[in-house]
Amino acid sequence: MVKLETIISLAKRRGFVFQSSEIYGGLNGCWDFGQLGVEMLRNIKELWWRSMTYRKDIEGIDASILMHPRTWDASGHTSKFSDPMIDNKTSKARYRADNLIEDYIDTLKRKGKNDLAYEIETKLNSAEEPLDYYKIIIDYKIPDPISGTCDWTEVRNFNLMFKTFIGPVEDQSSVVYLRPESAQGIFVNFKNVLDSSRQKIPFGIAQIGKAFRNEINTKNFLFRTREFEQMEMQYFIKPGTEIEWFEYWKEERMKWFVNCGIKAERLNFKKHEKLAHYANYAIDIEYEFPFGWGEIEGIHSRTDFDLSNHQQFSGKKLEYFDAVTNERYIPYVIETSGGVTRSFMAFLCDAYDEEDIQNEDGKIEKRVVLRLHPLIAPITAAVFPLVNKEGMPEYAEKLFLDLQKIIRVRYDSSGAIGRRYRRQDEVGTPYCITVDGQTLQDNTVTVRDRDSMYQIRINADNLKQFFLEKLTGYTF
Ligand code: ATP
Repeated sequence: MVKLETIISLAKRRGFVFQSSEIYGGLNGCWDFGQLGVEMLRNIKELWWRSMTYRKDIEGIDASILMHPRTWDASGHTSKFSDPMIDNKTSKARYRADNLIEDYIDTLKRKGKNDLAYEIETKLNSAEEPLDYYKIIIDYKIPDPISGTCDWTEVRNFNLMFKTFIGPVEDQSSVVYLRPESAQGIFVNFKNVLDSSRQKIPFGIAQIGKAFRNEINTKNFLFRTREFEQMEMQYFIKPGTEIEWFEYWKEERMKWFVNCGIKAERLNFKKHEKLAHYANYAIDIEYEFPFGWGEIEGIHSRTDFDLSNHQQFSGKKLEYFDAVTNERYIPYVIETSGGVTRSFMAFLCDAYDEEDIQNEDGKIEKRVVLRLHPLIAPITAAVFPLVNKEGMPEYAEKLFLDLQKIIRVRYDSSGAIGRRYRRQDEVGTPYCITVDGQTLQDNTVTVRDRDSMYQIRINADNLKQFFLEKLTGYTF
């Protein structure tokens, strides 16, 4: 499996992801998407948006990041959205206490000490208060991975929401939060969408947007960051139908990742042993990252927790009236909550491949190729003149301008043709078109497929049709 450092280095070298404010030494837990990264990110969001909103029963919205502070009282974030934090007095390192214990359990499992690992895991699953985590760390003498000591402070709860002030006066009454999830923007708009659309239950509301969490530890590149993007959908249903819809969305979401090209064997469902305060069923879709399995999306059955609380805190009725059965109820909700940026990283890791190939001189060389889905790849095609003379550049330039009207295409005329192919392989460009001597005689070009490296010769007039066929017909 590819190493994380290899992915990070490729991402930087080729303009996928840069460290935020790098010239100032970087800002922890924040990353910038470069010229290729932003294209890929937009493609992922587009495929999600299409699969979610190009259907009868789901509407899309885009709510503001800053919301009324009472939102977070109703959702439970002001009181419950905290992580247990612990410091090691010797190394001065700070940890999320549950993560520290989890990592220790993994170490025990790797050493074959399964009984002890399961014993600690059982205690961790029932831990709720800071003292519960503290007791586990002390009772099992869990050491600091840096200093090796058990010189721990107490465990304290740390709220992960970023606070700021709205308006010019910085006092308690003007405190607002950067949203820690996009979901609440959907709940507070439930009635607006219901009243202004023709939807009837069951129906969903989808949204893509930034979320912010002041994570205690950021790690593993884009996996745990302080600013990230989510793609979330809340599906409003009749109480009592939640198992059926939970199963439905669980399968749909898994299919989406597979249809977008992620290898099925690197995806997994993980049932939550410990449920969040709002959920009665929950499952994660996990991806096998270079550092191990990690959640990329959560599917949660949230009951009527959110709408009931918003009704209570706002004093506004959030009920649904079923005109057919004459029933009035607060809908239940099934949520699909995915990370755009975390999935981006899964797509990148999954697509990375290396192979030995024979170059033009007959020598064996390493080819790095990103086997990205053609609709996720940042660039769809590259156009090359074989040589920079005999009218080839002019022809290729014209072709490039023409194709640019329908797909994202790059022009490259520098260096040996083999090197140009390699440059495109490394960023996942599915097709390379070469204009050569024959082109000028019969208007045909070669089209090389990234994965098979097989080339076909087609008439340049048929290229638009070629791409139309290659880029449509996928199911998501
Ligand atoms: P974790 O347990 O890893 O902190 P979570 O269970 O709190 O995640 P959710 O609140 O269910 O995560 O968020 C939904 C999705 O948002 C996650 O599956 C993940 O893809 C993404 N996400 C959550 N927190 C972060 C983060 N700090 N950085 C990047 N993506 C995140």
